[in-house]
Amino acid sequence: MISNLLTEAEQETATKIKLLKEQAGTHSPSIFTIAEQVPELNIKVDACFLSNPYATELFLRYLKDELINTNRMRDVLEFYPSQNSVIAGILSDHLETAPKNIFIGNGAIEIIQAVIHNFTRRKILINIPTFSSYYEFVKEGVEVVFNKLKKEDNYQLNIEEYLRRVMDEEPDTVVLINPNNPDGQYIKWEDMRRLIHELRNVETVIIDKSFIHFAFEDENYELVSYTSMVDKYPNLVVLKSMSKDFGIAGIRAGYAVMNEYRISGLLKNGYLWNSSGLSEYFFRLYVRQDFLNEYEKERIRYIKETQHFFDQLREIRNLKAYPSKANFALIELFNGITSSDFVTSMLIRYGVYSRTCSDKIGLEGEFVRLASRTREDNEAILSALKSLLG
Ligand SMILES: *Cc1c(COP(=O)(O)O)cnc(C)c1O
Repeated sequence: MISNLLTEAEQETATKIKLLKEQAGTHSPSIFTIAEQVPELNIKVDACFLSNPYATELFLRYLKDELINTNRMRDVLEFYPSQNSVIAGILSDHLETAPKNIFIGNGAIEIIQAVIHNFTRRKILINIPTFSSYYEFVKEGVEVVFNKLKKEDNYQLNIEEYLRRVMDEEPDTVVLINPNNPDGQYIKWEDMRRLIHELRNVETVIIDKSFIHFAFEDENYELVSYTSMVDKYPNLVVLKSMSKDFGIAGIRAGYAVMNEYRISGLLKNGYLWNSSGLSEYFFRLYVRQDFLNEYEKERIRYIKETQHFFDQLREIRNLKAYPSKANFALIELFNGITSSDFVTSMLIRYGVYSRTCSDKIGLEGEFVRLASRTREDNEAILSALKSLLG
């Protein structure tokens, strides 16, 4: 056990970190909370947070040039942002659907809450392991049924089995996260198209494509979009966080494409100014060709570096890095170390903050999740792993 190797001072630090994790529940305490509460730590790499750091740099560059250096920042802060339906109008062409089908959220998490609170009445079927909000946000009286993804399949969804499960359980809501968090498994476009068709009689089909910009089907790295499917399949809710692929979790931006009746219902009694000036600025950038051209370069650069990082993870002994088409890898630990001891040792000894998966239901064994960061950070993560796991 690695924890026996910790010095007394390190044990004390470890206890503080574990307490913070307990207080944070099914999410991780932020790196700022940890730095504030455990000042003796020297945190160098945040391998917990799932974002493209190169995209953050790009966004910051635009923000400086266009808002800060020009004094337009004052307008962004002083005035109300546009209403939900106005921002929807901005995104319409880019998302290939009418504004009335687009809903803006204060982060995707707000949309998940809105959709599950308003449209899930009876029973929800969720693949596990998963992003915990999908079952935590269900209202009292709604039945939650889990479809357990199999370890021996690397947690890849078995489509035939899944469809049979849907037939048997008759849920009114199903959730497909693609690529899935925390395992990074990707369902190909062709399979998704089939799933969407087969699920056409389920009242609400949520597709969460928050990590889709990191996925690829071949070396062209073409972007896949499901949003135009909503016209043909009115039961679809396609939602996306902008936090991870654009590296801007702090501004809280997400959108969903869904049937206009759902949206008019939601807007009737809320969500009017749930955006912010900064998030509106981002959404205006998001449809601009000059920004998109630059973003595309950073996206592909990051995918390549990420896949290279995963290849190197596979070389390390005493762990299994599951194949992933997201920007993080699910790691199973083998040499007797618990995930919680792994996380504290990595943090205390090497300044690398990683995510324990001990709170993820549907994972049996010792699991952590490692995010891909910059090339330099990834090197630091790899060298810490080699040193810790031998
Ligand atoms: C992070 C995450 C979200 C929420 O993202 P925000 O836009 O930051 O609220 C939604 N779904 C999945 C699968 C995520 O990992």
